[in-house]
Amino acid sequence: MRLRRLDMPQAHRLLRLLDQDCYAPGLNFVFGQAMAGGRDAVVALPRLRQEFYGLPEDEMLFQERAIKEAVHELGHTYGLGHCPNPRCVMHFSNSLADTDIKGATFCEKCRAELNLGN
Ligand SMILES: [Zn+2]
Ligand SMILES: [Zn+2]
Repeated sequence: MRLRRLDMPQAHRLLRLLDQDCYAPGLNFVFGQAMAGGRDAVVALPRLRQEFYGLPEDEMLFQERAIKEAVHELGHTYGLGHCPNPRCVMHFSNSLADTDIKGATFCEKCRAELNLGN
């Protein structure tokens, strides 16, 4: 991950928005990736766009998806795992439908876990 080479010692978290398809071992593609409990997180933007699927552009929907995936990946850097609650931002997105169903915020259980870590 190129982020690690950035010399920003004061940064608590580094989130990279990558306009490039991302793949992870064992998965065909990923919407994002983060170091669990680490500093770096990446969100891949192309598959969050309606145009990727031959649909008309929808900037609002794209932004909403990007925010959800960004919060999700940052959640991992704060030590959160995947949440079984489909409305929780930490729910794993297997497809964009999962991303669209979930909210941009943490469920109560995840929020409690986040507070414990602080
Ligand atoms: Zn995740
Ligand atoms: Zn949750």
